[in-house]
Amino acid sequence: MKILLLEHPRQIEAERCNDIANTPLSSCLNTGYAAAALKSRGHEVVIVEGYMDNLSYTQIENTISSFKPDILGVHMVYHWQTDSSLYSFLEMVKDSGFTNHITVYGFYPTIACTDILGECPAIDSIIVGEHEVTFTELAEAISNDICPDNLPGLAVHDRTGGIKYTRRPLVTDLDTLPFPVRTEALYQIPEVNILGSRGCYGRCTFCYINPFYGYGSHWRGRSPENIIREIDMIIDERGISKFYFTDPNFFGPGQSGQLRARRLATLLKSRNITFGIEGRVNDIDDETIGALVGAGLRHILVGLESGRDSSLKRLNKMTTVAQNEEALRILRRHNIEPNIGFIMFEPDSKLNDIRVNFEFLKKNKLLNNLSVTANVLYHHQIVLKGTPAFEHLQREKRLTSKPTCTYEGEATFVDLNVSTLSSLMRQVTNCLFDRMDEIWGCRVPEPPNAQERYLRINSLLVKIFEDNLTLMESGMEIGHDISLIVNQFEKEFDKILSY
Ligand code: SF4
Repeated sequence: MKILLLEHPRQIEAERCNDIANTPLSSCLNTGYAAAALKSRGHEVVIVEGYMDNLSYTQIENTISSFKPDILGVHMVYHWQTDSSLYSFLEMVKDSGFTNHITVYGFYPTIACTDILGECPAIDSIIVGEHEVTFTELAEAISNDICPDNLPGLAVHDRTGGIKYTRRPLVTDLDTLPFPVRTEALYQIPEVNILGSRGCYGRCTFCYINPFYGYGSHWRGRSPENIIREIDMIIDERGISKFYFTDPNFFGPGQSGQLRARRLATLLKSRNITFGIEGRVNDIDDETIGALVGAGLRHILVGLESGRDSSLKRLNKMTTVAQNEEALRILRRHNIEPNIGFIMFEPDSKLNDIRVNFEFLKKNKLLNNLSVTANVLYHHQIVLKGTPAFEHLQREKRLTSKPTCTYEGEATFVDLNVSTLSSLMRQVTNCLFDRMDEIWGCRVPEPPNAQERYLRINSLLVKIFEDNLTLMESGMEIGHDISLIVNQFEKEFDKILSY
């Protein structure tokens, strides 16, 4: 059976240029895992990298029309809006008879399956949650002319016009999955992505890792030996020495999670590679980090999220500010300056929460690097369907969503001042990201004395935040001045960066 897997083109509005996670990083190997599972069952599989290869829909159409797949699988990614160009394209593919069955998979379609099946009649089915086994069974059913409608893990229209599906149990042993297929495009990025585990033992209110995997989701790790086999294969075939673990949480829970990480470090040590990981602060253990650094760990993203315990509690982070600070100390002791996840503005923040966050960032030297500063002084909580936060805010009738896309809710802030400051920082940092895009994307060279200039812009950003926070704390309103402040920032920015 011929199956074409499509990573569709993605267009991100300038306004959302810095909003994180329209799909979790761990989903970047979804198509590779699907391809590997399907190939292992003898199917002919082609992957089209519409996004990474920057293909137009016309180019993609040419490939599909000549390959004529029995199934077109689309890894569907949220675009911060309904993806009407993709829908029109799929309608055209179906009307032209290029394929008989279109199925989509990924985080967004899992959570929004009812909306998507309603909006795009060309889509026959949606694979809900973990997709490998469902996809192979779908291919099996279609190749045997069996109606796949009752497959666990597959959402389809029922006879009444509604949507029906049941969840499929999760794969219990990840070592049983074939290694993902990687396209040329995936080898062109600076670090090759690898997935060592799935799910998370955390339950943060804003996160949709566990909702994607469904009820009973928990952290599942591949064995260190299985991971090493994949890494060795990549080293042998491609001579690659830089890797990034896309696991939402690299560490499994408790002592066994630490021992597994140390065992992996022992195996990695002789491979002479470098790598990055993402994790929770409560898993940052001195001995384990030491072992990982010795094995090539060079960077890590940790989700601090807040500098206030009551906010961490609200976010159900199950960590404390003290743990945040201890994690920073341990990482810096091992010469790792972490990237950090930080939610400056949550819907329930009061001005005092923002002050505490700001002082926490200053105290812990997290406002000294322009790209970090721009992120931590700006991020508001994104509220996506499927998350506990979405359900909670919806129950409280504090969410609005665009009629075109119910996948994301815009939350009203309990504190008007917080809303104003959030809006100001969003506009200022969007202006910064827009202007730095070419430099940070390495499309133009850095200016002379780049670091000195970035430090000046960094100070400017911190000053705007602090000055306006202080004004608000003294009871002043700044709402009317936002455009003025943004314009002034633009002018100052251009003056500092012009050369
Ligand atoms: S720790 Fe990270 S991956 Fe785990 S639930 Fe929280 S945000 Fe999600």
